[in-house]
Amino acid sequence: ERVDNPYAGAKMYVNPEWSAKAAAEPGGTAIANQPTAVWLDRIAAINGVNGGMSLRDHLDKALEQKGSGELTVQFVVYNLPGRDCAALASNGELGPTEIDKYKTQYIDPIAATLGDAKYAGLRIVTTIEIDSLPNLVTNVTPRPTATPNCDVMKENGNYQKGVGYALDKLGAIPNVYNYIDAGHHGWLGWDSNFGPSAELFKTTATSNGAQLSDVHGFIVNTANYSALKEDHFKIGDSVNGVSVRQSKWVDWNQYTDELSYAQGMRAKLVSLGFDPNLGMLIDTSRNGWGGPNRPTGPGAQTSVDTYVDGGRYDRRIHLGNWCNQSGAGLGERPQANPEPGIDAYVWIKPPGESDGASRPIDNDEGKGFDRMCDPTYEGNPRNNNHMSGALPDSPLAGHWFPAQFQELLKNAYPAL
Ligand code: BGC
Repeated sequence: ERVDNPYAGAKMYVNPEWSAKAAAEPGGTAIANQPTAVWLDRIAAINGVNGGMSLRDHLDKALEQKGSGELTVQFVVYNLPGRDCAALASNGELGPTEIDKYKTQYIDPIAATLGDAKYAGLRIVTTIEIDSLPNLVTNVTPRPTATPNCDVMKENGNYQKGVGYALDKLGAIPNVYNYIDAGHHGWLGWDSNFGPSAELFKTTATSNGAQLSDVHGFIVNTANYSALKEDHFKIGDSVNGVSVRQSKWVDWNQYTDELSYAQGMRAKLVSLGFDPNLGMLIDTSRNGWGGPNRPTGPGAQTSVDTYVDGGRYDRRIHLGNWCNQSGAGLGERPQANPEPGIDAYVWIKPPGESDGASRPIDNDEGKGFDRMCDPTYEGNPRNNNHMSGALPDSPLAGHWFPAQFQELLKNAYPAL
């Protein structure tokens, strides 16, 4: 009884906790009524962290906001064993082997709550385990980008077991819509990553109890900064007979932006056997790249590099940079059916919440210090040894970061 697109003809849930933080910032009321996702980023989030809202509180509030119409509420399922294996900023509470705890103390209670008949009238979107499966393709031995933790997670299979279990249990609830995380074009857009990732999504969605019918779609660009549409250069362009794929920025990628990547990945997944009606989501919370530095036309045709660098909206130092990017702005406001194959533009990463701390901070959330969040860091193989491009003085991942919130407002595109 699921509808084809859970976002079509529905309001979206406004998280009162995020909304209050946004509204308390200068200029924040301009966006405080936008829908953002609720991150279930630890077991305690199910009952509410430090007196905050529980999963049930959110669902009850969602019923209230729904009234007599349709409403879509978005949750992020994000607590795998050995979480965030290629980075440190969002390491979680579960060690690499704690798959049973993940199942019984995390997924089971979430499934029990979402399955409560009281909530049967809500359209519940779950985005499943951000960054997990792609890491098993790109950040493992023998790649130069491998990390020891990703090798461990590939070896023990607990990412696939966890995702399969989540898809199965949540997919059994008729009003839940599972979307699996599919990275972004600046990660999986290369041939060596694209096909193998799609294959891994397929195997994962057909093992450990999961079936293809448990998957409603995929989400791209979650908590990332990749531009939605680069208007001033296309993958087929060339300059003086040299393809833009040979520019330093594109570096042989097959995609230049998230819309083309999402549509390309969708076609690939359907070709592997996923539902032809598969819907894609794009996280546009922080990929606006507006403000005074936004190019208004293509770059000079001196070389592929001047052409691409002069025209690109994405002003990052390198596509692999992911932490609290300087110069980023809010992207497209959440909306249903924006483009063919795309169920919605969504704000999954709540604007104003940090991606990680710029220096070590003691905490009881399992979070580490990743130097990709330190503006003085000169990089590693995963960003081809470039500066991190991170804003200074950031708090722990998920914590409120007022300076970033201001930056996002200032550089919003479309402008506020
Ligand atoms: C953090 C989570 C947080 C989420 C949303 C992630 O980077 O690790 O704790 O809930 O971002 O801000």
